[in-house]
This record gives sequence, C-alpha cells and structure tokens, in this order.
Amino acid sequence: MSNSHSTERQFDIEWSGDVVVVGAGIVGLAVAREILRRRPETRLAVLDKEDGIARHQTGHNSGVIHSGIYYKPGSFKAKACVAGSAQMMQFCEEREIPYERCGKVIIATEEEELPRLYDLLERGNANGCPDLRIIDADELKEIEPHATGIKALLSPNTGIVDYRQVARAYAEDIRKSSGQIRTGHEVLALHQRADGAVLETTGGYIQAKRVVTCGGLWSDRVARLTGAPREPRIVPFRGDYYILRNDRRHLVRSNIYPVPDPRFPFLGVHLTPRIDGDIWLGPNAVLAFARDGYTFRQFNFGDLREMATFGGFLRFAMANWRTGADEMLRDLSKKRFLASLQRYVPELRMDDLVPGPSGVRAQALSDDGQLVDDFIFSESERILHVRNAPSPAATSSLVIGQMVVDRFEEMGG
Ligand SMILES: Cc1cc2nc3c(=O)[nH]c(=O)nc-3n(C[C@H](O)[C@H](O)[C@H](O)COP(=O)(O)OP(=O)(O)OC[C@H]3O[C@@H](n4cnc5c(N)ncnc54)[C@H](O)[C@@H]3O)c2cc1C
Repeated sequence: MSNSHSTERQFDIEWSGDVVVVGAGIVGLAVAREILRRRPETRLAVLDKEDGIARHQTGHNSGVIHSGIYYKPGSFKAKACVAGSAQMMQFCEEREIPYERCGKVIIATEEEELPRLYDLLERGNANGCPDLRIIDADELKEIEPHATGIKALLSPNTGIVDYRQVARAYAEDIRKSSGQIRTGHEVLALHQRADGAVLETTGGYIQAKRVVTCGGLWSDRVARLTGAPREPRIVPFRGDYYILRNDRRHLVRSNIYPVPDPRFPFLGVHLTPRIDGDIWLGPNAVLAFARDGYTFRQFNFGDLREMATFGGFLRFAMANWRTGADEMLRDLSKKRFLASLQRYVPELRMDDLVPGPSGVRAQALSDDGQLVDDFIFSESERILHVRNAPSPAATSSLVIGQMVVDRFEEMGG
C-alpha cells in the first residue's frame, strides 16, 4: 500500500469515477447495483480479475435459497437470510428468473440428534423463519417417499435457483444504470491519495473517490492492499458434488439435509434438486490446497505456505485433525460418500452417483484458530471491505448489498 498524500505519484489513468467495487461475485454485484439504485448518477465500475462474472463461489454453489434456520439469532447472517430469501424470490419473480420453492427437510436418523433438531426449530423460529415444524417418520415418507428418518424439521419455504442467472441480472441492472463491469482487471495494489485511491490492476490504473471490496476467496489479501489487518484470514475449503443419475431422480423431491455438526459452519452433505432438473449430492468440506483449488490435485505453493505459517490455521488444524482426516478419506472414497447419503436415502447405489462439479468456500479463520461464522465488514476512511461472506451470502445478497451501502453512506458517501 502507498498512502503518502504529499508526494503523489502520477499514473496513466484508464478510468476515473466515484466508486470502484472490487469483485464481480454476487456480493460485489449486489453492492454495486444498490449504490446505483440509490444514486443513479454515481460513476461506478466493478472490477474482477477473471474474464467473466461469478467465476468463483457464486458460480459453484448448491443453488439453495436458504430460509434462515441455522444462524445465531441477532447475527448478520440471521437478519440478512430471512429478509434476503424473501427478497431473492421476489427478485426472481420480477425478473422471470426460474426458481422453485421446493422446500427442505432436515432429517434426524438417531435419537441423539433430536435435541439438536429441536434447537434448530427454536433458532429458526427466533429468526422469524416462517412455517417451520417438526414432522414424524410417516409425514416424512409422504413428503420424501424414499427418505428415512425418525423425525425431521420441515422448511416449506426453502427454494432453489441458479445464482449465476441472478448475478447476470444484477450485472444487467448495473450496465443499464451506466455502471461498468471491467473483467480481466486484477487489483494488484492500491495507492491512497488525498482525493481517493488509484487501483493498479492488470488492465490499467483505475481511479475512484471511494472503494468497496468483495473479494470472496481473496478478500483478506484485497483488504491487506489497503493496509487493513491480516486477520481474519481466508482458508479455502473445497466441496465436491456427485450428480444423481437421470433415471434415479425420482428418489429426491426436495432438499434433504442432515442435522449439522454444531462445531462447524458447513451444513453436511445434502441432496439438492437443481433448477435445471439435475440432483446434486454434496458438498463435502475438505481443505483445498489452493484458493481456486477446484480439484484434489490443484496446488498453489504460495497459498499453502501462507496456511502453514498462519498460527490460526495451525491451531485449527491441531484441534480438528481427526474430522479433517475423516473428510479427506470420504473425499477419496466414493463408498464413504455414498454411505453418508444412504443414511437419508437408503436406496441409493454406487452407480447412481456420477462425478459432478466442485466449489471452494472462502472460510474466514481468526488468529486463535476459530472459524468465523458471521458476515464481517470492516472499513477505513474511504474504503469498505466485505471480509467474510460465506453461505448463505448468495441467498442474502440483496440485503447484504443494502447493509453495505447503508454503512457506506454513513461513512460519508
Ligand atoms: C460449495 C458451496 C456451496 C454453497 N451453497 C450455497 C447455497 O446453497 N446458498 C447460498 O446462499 N450460498 C451458498 N454458498 C455461499 C455463496 O456461494 C457465497 O457466500 C457467495 O457466492 C459469496 O459471494 P462473493 O461475491 O462474496 O464471492 P465470490 O463469488 O467468490 O466473488 C468474489 C470475486 O472477487 C474477485 N476477486 C478476488 N480478488 C480480486 C482482485 N485482487 N482483483 C479483482 N477481483 C478479485 C474474484 O475473481 C471473484 O469473482 C456456497 C458456497 C460454496 C463454495
């Protein structure tokens, strides 16, 4: 970072405006769209390092419109998800984006899971998540004839959508309001000046009075460019999916989820219908060896070195090595993956599972080795960072956009 206002360097500026948003994932696009919705005269550009929008988490997720069950009451996640899912469905209606309110069951297969299932009901109710109720094994059979369990939590308002389509619609709104989306612009450095900032990118120098960063898997590094603290750091967790063979799609009608392990923010491998008719099975959660490590073999030595020298990661790894090793084994063994799914849908067979895509989650980790659960925003003079926007940030994106822009305006926008 350079912030010496007195001896300002001269740059060959490619574009100059009021606001730059770094990151054309669903969060960055939602923020940019909201800024322009409130102040259409803003000269705004969204920058992304890839050659298109939604190339990372936004384009590699389960596509579930979460209803807001899991999150700690009062947290950003809880507030943004319940309001966000309603807004997302309304947005899809208005923009004619296909979505489906297909519902979801969280299934307990053992007595010992019941207290956690009832806790989830209580949480969901506290969050204002509508129409939740516990159903028994018979009612579960009516809703999901091929699923099994002793009880389940039914969430009729959970939905599905393709978030790439939602991101494209946000981008369309931005362009209609004369905002620019500049892909192929990786931000490498940020020079703070008396009247704003100059962003040095792979596509040239971009100048703006104010900056919002929404860098997903690289959010900590983007924030560092402005001199923000290193922590929380991002640790990448890959999630692999299988796809259910077409002639076995009748086994799954809605979203089928396990009772999650309360120690981790991940929801457990689930069975999810996609808006195109496919059924995805997964994702698991294994440590990725690169921030864009979409396959087991993808390594980035810089990313690995950073993890290996980060005390927070080492503390996390020491405390969770057994779970990590189990997840890794399940990742390598289709048989184990299948066994996790058969707990809920026993009829599933090995050859029903076809290898599918993968996604990488940006998981923020604090210095003391704790996984950071809630959304995190931080700010300095003219710059606002979205540092942690894990699931359900796609569901909540419209509301996150509103929260960020509220804060941005309070900062003096
Ligand atoms: C496997 C998986 C399943 C999920 N399932 C769901 C779900 O069902 N429902 C749900 O609501 N959420 C889900 N999520 C979470 C959701 O996808 C993310 O929370 C959301 O997409 C985050 O959006 P984002 O814009 O913050 O990040 P991203 O989509 O990752 O976008 C960040 C962008 O920043 C860009 N960038 C980074 N560094 C730079 C730089 N230096 N210069 C320029 N550009 C840069 C990147 O190229 C990228 O395009 C899931 C996530 C994963 C991985």
